[in-house]
Amino acid sequence: MKKLLSSMASAALLVACALPAYAEKTMEADIAVVGGGLSGLAAATQASQLGAKVIVLEKQAKVGGTGLFCEGVFAAESKVQKRIGINVTKDFAFKLIMDYGHWKNNGALAKHFVDRSAETIEWMDAMGIKIEYVGVGGHGGPLTWHVIAPGPDYLSGKNKHDYHCERVINVFNKYVTDHGGQVLLQTPGTDLIREGNKVVGVWAKDKSGEKIRINAKAVVMATGGFSSNKEMMKKYYPEYPDITAVGNIGKDGDGIRMGTAAGADLEGMNTVEGYRPGLPGFHPADQMIALAVQPYFWVTPRGERYTDESNIVFWPYSNNSLVRVGGVAYSIYDDATRKAAVEQGIEMPLGEWVLAGTKLVKWEDSFNKELARKRGFVFKADTIEELAKQLKMKPEVLQASVDQMNKAAESRTDELFGKPAKFLRKVATGPFYATKLTPRHLGTLGGMKVTRDNQVVDTKGEPISGLYAVGTDSGGMYGDSYDLLLGGGTAGYAINSGRFAAEHAIKYIKQ
Ligand SMILES: Cc1cc2nc3c(=O)[nH]c(=O)nc-3n(C[C@H](O)[C@H](O)[C@H](O)COP(=O)(O)OP(=O)(O)OC[C@H]3O[C@@H](n4cnc5c(N)ncnc54)[C@H](O)[C@@H]3O)c2cc1C
Repeated sequence: MKKLLSSMASAALLVACALPAYAEKTMEADIAVVGGGLSGLAAATQASQLGAKVIVLEKQAKVGGTGLFCEGVFAAESKVQKRIGINVTKDFAFKLIMDYGHWKNNGALAKHFVDRSAETIEWMDAMGIKIEYVGVGGHGGPLTWHVIAPGPDYLSGKNKHDYHCERVINVFNKYVTDHGGQVLLQTPGTDLIREGNKVVGVWAKDKSGEKIRINAKAVVMATGGFSSNKEMMKKYYPEYPDITAVGNIGKDGDGIRMGTAAGADLEGMNTVEGYRPGLPGFHPADQMIALAVQPYFWVTPRGERYTDESNIVFWPYSNNSLVRVGGVAYSIYDDATRKAAVEQGIEMPLGEWVLAGTKLVKWEDSFNKELARKRGFVFKADTIEELAKQLKMKPEVLQASVDQMNKAAESRTDELFGKPAKFLRKVATGPFYATKLTPRHLGTLGGMKVTRDNQVVDTKGEPISGLYAVGTDSGGMYGDSYDLLLGGGTAGYAINSGRFAAEHAIKYIKQ
């Protein structure tokens, strides 16, 4: 009997020990923000400023998401633009966005974004986020990309990450926590809580597996889209589902899944933020890739040129044309081009990563390391014929393309694609090098359909009370293709949409 009692007691103890894994805790907030990246922290900051009690849920061990990678944000008619005589008007920018998207995008949302963009730069300025300079999206485009200046911690040498959008993340995160908000790391949002047609909170799970019920008067979805969700990529980007996502981890479409379960409609799901082509696993500043994406001579696996390579200026064009031919191409250059890039520097910058004129002194190391790995990413041969064999192309097809390129370089006229003469280069001096190019993207752009204030709408167009979607969890800012004509669009939209959602949510709560 004693034995039975003692084993019952141990069983009870075991259950008690196991309990926390199934326990639930409850927290209260005015606004719960799911996702502590750029748009989510912007929403949380704006909501805190307006007096709301905020809880931010972040799936990863640190905040920032893809917002840790960006450098600059869009604005039109900002003070800094005006001060240095840059004349990009709101009307011009709005028209460009809508014309580029063939008015498939959400005009009311785009107008709201453009109209408030300059004020958002001032809003950030007041919190200590300064602008270093205003640059372009694509080389030679309008000056709208407000590149974020280094913060004091960067300048004092304390934190080399206090620069570009990481500075924005640092400032927003500090603002929220300093003003009574809570940022819960490694605590993903899992499901929305509804009462009738209203969203009244969100379930989360912390790293110990404990479920947390967060009762909130409004929920802002800011989980950054679905680039890491293979099934969703297959469904919505069937042309090239294996596209490499740069700077995105854990983007599992959680926000979109939770939103659709609550009745959200979706918009623009097939649009990705197409990036310069490259290879998986390489840093955006890798010098072997930097030379491969110079706008010289790119061919399909058959050995035929397929595009004006200088479209790399507006990388969504490069991505689109590569996806169109099946998602694999080879950039081929000769030793004279390699030498020029190493000794004189590259012509085409890779944003802030590799500036124009950078001498690619690390090219050799990067190329040779990859060659030794024999992964079929890079090739080297003394003749075009030998290179064609390595690339499994018909030598006569590749040779014909090389001849066309060399003729174009001599006559300074590209009869195939009209590429500007300054990028016409011969492929004539061995050895010859080839690098495989595959599509890459910086994130998905489709998501929940929203109003101009980022309220999520259902399939009948009715706003779902208490539910907002921002940044790359919301669709409608873009038509069928990412637009790099106005630099800083996605980061700018992330921050502005976060603010819009917070402002509207506060009004909704006070109703
Ligand atoms: C290399 C690179 C350079 C870029 N440069 C620029 C630029 O200069 N200008 C520009 O305009 N744009 C740029 N972008 C794009 C820009 O960074 C993104 O568009 C922007 O960060 C999107 O913001 P977001 O809030 O939607 O997503 P994110 O900033 O990625 O935030 C989403 C967050 O949600 C979290 N999350 C996911 N699921 C859950 C869940 N279930 N629960 C809780 N949290 C969750 C994620 O971990 C992440 O922290 C760049 C992108 C890259 C990759």
